[in-house]
Amino acid sequence: METELWNQFLGMTSGKSDWWTRIGLYEGFWVWGFWLFWAVMIGACMGSFLNVCVLRIPRHESIAGAPSHCFGCGNPIRWYDNIPVWSYCILRGKCRKCGMHIPPRYLVMEILTGLLYAGIMAKTGWSEQSPAVMLPYVILASLAVITIQIDWKRRIIPDVTTYPCMAAGLLCAALLPGEFARETWQQGLFFSGLGLAGTGIGLSLFAVIGRKIAGQDVFGWGDVKFMMAAGALTGPAGAVFILLAGSLGGTLFGIWAGLGRVRRGRSWRGIRIPLGPFLAGAALLWIFAGEILVKEYFKLLTR
Ligand SMILES: [Zn+2]
Repeated sequence: METELWNQFLGMTSGKSDWWTRIGLYEGFWVWGFWLFWAVMIGACMGSFLNVCVLRIPRHESIAGAPSHCFGCGNPIRWYDNIPVWSYCILRGKCRKCGMHIPPRYLVMEILTGLLYAGIMAKTGWSEQSPAVMLPYVILASLAVITIQIDWKRRIIPDVTTYPCMAAGLLCAALLPGEFARETWQQGLFFSGLGLAGTGIGLSLFAVIGRKIAGQDVFGWGDVKFMMAAGALTGPAGAVFILLAGSLGGTLFGIWAGLGRVRRGRSWRGIRIPLGPFLAGAALLWIFAGEILVKEYFKLLTR
């Protein structure tokens, strides 16, 4: 049933009455290209929105309130100068009014988010699930994009980004239990709730005990909340994977950065590395390769 739905969605079946077949999009390749194109477009628009989030959330500014304005002259940016990717290229990275240079980071983020969305589309399309499975992935990927930037620069993971994602995870699992391989909404909610509560309780204990033993924070509360959101969106298995892979990545980076400091004749003690970006990176890894990595890992163990 699920496969059938997906096939219909892609126009793979012979039914010629679908609107995309009527406008000539009946060949599998073109249908794929068409949907991937829109995934990139929507992703680029979301990337533009996430840029606004990254800029405004740490300053406690409203996301929806004031329209975007130039940092140089303060002039509001008109809609036709605010089209993702396109406007940046047309304006060659400069404000139309004052000519101030716009950091290429904005363009890069729009393109990367576009590719990320297309990647999720392709990933879920190749599996035998219905397209709705994209929803929790897209939400998690968007949270990851914001977290990588804000936490790396400012060492915080704002609650306004994690709390809505926790709610969205529970809601997705209850409304689309089939996407999490559950049958009823209660089972879906339990699965997502277990991912949320399990990481929340486990990591809170770890943070409190770790603080007592080490005498300093081993785990920030922002990291705990990020993990709770990831747990709600991916379930217990995803949460465990993201936690382990993210911690491993952060630790390896810490060792590498520490060795670099020691080689320059400084103490490794002053080093502070945020864990959030590594957890976020691990979340992206889970979306695209989690299943394969876990399967291969267990194959190694049972050999
Ligand atoms: Zn300007």
